[in-house]
Amino acid sequence: MAFCHAAYDEKSLTTCYSGKNGEARETSQASRCLVGQEAGQNQLGNAINKLLDSNGSRVQTMPQYKAPIRDMQFLLHEVFNVEGHYKALRGNDEVNRELIDAILEEGARFSENELAPLNRSGDEEGCQFENGVVTTPKGFKEAYQKYVENGWGAMTAHADMGGQGLPPSMGTIISEMNGTANWSWSMYPGLSHGAIRTLEAHGTPEQKNTFLTKLVSGEWTGTMCLTEPHCGTDLGILRTKAEPNADGSYSITGTKIFISAGDHDMVDNIVHIVLARLPDAPKGTKGISLFIVPKLNVGADGSLGDRNGVVCGSIEHKMGIKASATCVLNFEGAKGFLIGPPNRGLNCMFTFMNAARVGTAIQGVTAAELSFQGALAYAKDRLAMRSLTGPKRPEKEADPIIVHPDVRRMLLTQKAFAEGGRALIYFLAQQIDLVEEGADESTRQYADDLMAFLTPIAKAFCTEAGLEAANHGVQVFGGHGFIREWGMEQIVRDTRIATLYEGTTGVQALDLLGRKVMLTQGRMLKNFTKIVHKFCVENEGDAALKEFIEPLNQMNKEWGDITTQIGMRAMTNQEEVGAAAVDYLMYSGYITLAYFWALQVKAAQAQLAAGTTETGFYTAKVQTGRFYFQRLLPRTRAHLSAIQSGVANLLDMEEEHFGFY
Ligand SMILES: Cc1cc2nc3c(=O)[nH]c(=O)nc-3n(C[C@H](O)[C@H](O)[C@H](O)COP(=O)(O)OP(=O)(O)OC[C@H]3O[C@@H](n4cnc5c(N)ncnc54)[C@H](O)[C@@H]3O)c2cc1C
Repeated sequence: MAFCHAAYDEKSLTTCYSGKNGEARETSQASRCLVGQEAGQNQLGNAINKLLDSNGSRVQTMPQYKAPIRDMQFLLHEVFNVEGHYKALRGNDEVNRELIDAILEEGARFSENELAPLNRSGDEEGCQFENGVVTTPKGFKEAYQKYVENGWGAMTAHADMGGQGLPPSMGTIISEMNGTANWSWSMYPGLSHGAIRTLEAHGTPEQKNTFLTKLVSGEWTGTMCLTEPHCGTDLGILRTKAEPNADGSYSITGTKIFISAGDHDMVDNIVHIVLARLPDAPKGTKGISLFIVPKLNVGADGSLGDRNGVVCGSIEHKMGIKASATCVLNFEGAKGFLIGPPNRGLNCMFTFMNAARVGTAIQGVTAAELSFQGALAYAKDRLAMRSLTGPKRPEKEADPIIVHPDVRRMLLTQKAFAEGGRALIYFLAQQIDLVEEGADESTRQYADDLMAFLTPIAKAFCTEAGLEAANHGVQVFGGHGFIREWGMEQIVRDTRIATLYEGTTGVQALDLLGRKVMLTQGRMLKNFTKIVHKFCVENEGDAALKEFIEPLNQMNKEWGDITTQIGMRAMTNQEEVGAAAVDYLMYSGYITLAYFWALQVKAAQAQLAAGTTETGFYTAKVQTGRFYFQRLLPRTRAHLSAIQSGVANLLDMEEEHFGFY
C-alpha cells in the first residue's frame, strides 16, 4: 500500500476509501499493488513502474502504438506487388518502392508522435459544447494543422485541385496508421476525404473551384449529412427539404443527427454534403438529391461571408470516440447548391459511402492492431502461475502469461484478424485505384464489381472481428483490462460504433446477400470465387501449401453451393434471405480472409525456401496462417448450420410471446 501512495500522485490512482467496517479498501490501481504483495511478488509493481517517471508521475498509460511497417511492407511489396500495380496504373514508375517506403516511414512518425499521445487525453476530455460552439480536446487543432502543413490531406487528391495526385490506395494505408493511433482524431480528415471524393466525381467546375480546393488544402473540412432523428438505415423516408431559390441555389430545411465532425474548432469553414428532397420529388430513395451546404457562406472570390443557416444544436454524449464531435445539425433555410442530377442524390452519395465503408472496415483493423500491441506487451510482462509443462522462466516467481495456451489463443486471434484484415483492405485499396484510374472500361467495371461485392464483407466482418479482438485485449489484461488507465477498455468503447455506423452489420449483410449476390444471380460472387479458385489450382501441387489450399478450395466451392441453396429457399419465402444474411456474411468473411491468409503464407514460404535471414517474421506469418485455418476458419461450420436451419426458428414466435412481464 505504501508503494501505491508513494508512487501515484493522481487522485484517481491513489484514492483509498474505507470499507463499511472501516478497513482500508483500495481502488483499482491500489489493488494492483495489494495483489502483488499478497502473492509475495512484485511483478505488478514492475509493470506499473514502467508507467511512471522518476518523480512517480504517470507518463504513459495507453498501449504505445508502433506502426506495423514491416507487415505493411510485406503486404505491399511481397504479396501485392504494389510497385508493379502502380506502374501498370500510371504507365510510369514515379510511385516506386523508395517513395512508398518513405511515405510509410513519415506516416508512422506522424501517427506515433503527433496523434497517439492525444488518444487517451482526447477520450478523457472529450468534445465540449458551450454557447453553440464546439471545442475539440487539447492538441487536436494543432495536430490537424501539422497534418495539413505536412500535406497529408492533399496526398491523394487530384493535382489540378492542389493535391499531390498519389494513388488513392496510398491514402488508405496512411489512414490505418492515423486511425490506429487515434481514431477520434482521424475522423475529421476522414470525413473530408469522403467529401473530396464526392465533389471530384460529381461537382461542377465552379463547385470544385470554390469548395474542393479548400477541402484539399485542408483549410476547410467536410461532413456527410444523411441521418435524421427518425431514420438512419432507411434513408428513403428522410424529410429534409430543399426549396429552389431564384438565384439557382436552394434553401435547405430539416434536422440531421449524429453528424461526425459536424461542427468543431479546427478550421474556419465546414462543407456539409447533405441529402434532401426537392419539392414534388418522388417518394422513397428515388426522390433524394444531394447538396453542398457551407457553414459560412462563401463569396464569388472565395472569401468567407456571413453565417449560413446551419447551426449545431448539441453534441452527443457517447460510449466511445468521445473526441470526435457527433452533432445535431439544424438546417434553417440554409443556402445550398445541388450536386449531380436532381433525385440522384443517393447514387452520387455512394461515392462517398463506399469510401466511408472501406474507411470503417479499416477501423476494425485498427482495433485489432492496437489491442494486440497492448495485449502482447502485457502478456510478456505479467506473471501468473506456471506453464502446465513446468516453469518456463524459473528465475522468476511465476511465468509470464504468454506461456499459457489460452492467452496465446487470444493474442493469435487478434494478430490473425489484424494482419488478415489489413491484407483484405490493401486488396480493396488496389481495386479503388483501378476503379478510378483503370486503363479501360472493362478493367474499371471489373474492379468496381469486386469492390461492390467485397465492401460489405470488409465493412461488417472486419469491424465485428475488430470488436472481438478488442475484447480479447481486455481479457488478456485480466481485471486490469477493465480499468481505464490501461487503455484497453477505450479500444472496446471506441470500436463499438464501427459495427453500427455506415450501415449496421445486419444491413451490410442484406446488401451482400440481397443486392450483391442474389440480384446479380451470383455474378459478383463468382468474380471473387474465380480468383480464389485460380489461386488454388495454381498451387495445388505445392506440398507446403496443401494444408491451406485444400480447405480453401473446398470451402470456396461450398460457398457457391450454399448460395444456391439460399436462393432456392428464397424463391418460396423471401424471408430466408433476411434470416441467413448475417451468418452468410460472417461465413463469407472467414473464407475471404482465408484466401488472404493463404496468399500471405505462400509469400512467406517462398522467402523461407529462398533462405531469408528474417526467419522469425516469415515463420510467424506461416504459423499465424495455420492458426487462422485451424482455429478461426472452422467457425464457418457454425455459420453454415445456422444458415441451413432456415427461417422458421426466427419467425415462428408470435411477437407478443417474446416477453412475459
Ligand atoms: C457516433 C456516430 C457517428 C455517426 N456519424 C454519422 C455521420 O457522420 N453522418 C450520418 O449521416 N450518420 C452518422 N451516423 C448515423 C449512423 O450511420 C446510423 O446510426 C446507422 O446507419 C444506423 O441507423 P439508425 O441509428 O437509424 O438505426 P436503425 O436503422 O433504426 O436500425 C436499428 C436496428 O434495426 C436493424 N435494421 C434496420 N433495418 C433493417 C432491415 N431492413 N433488416 C434487418 N435489420 C434492420 C439495424 O441493423 C439495427 O440493428 C452516426 C452515428 C453515430 C452513433
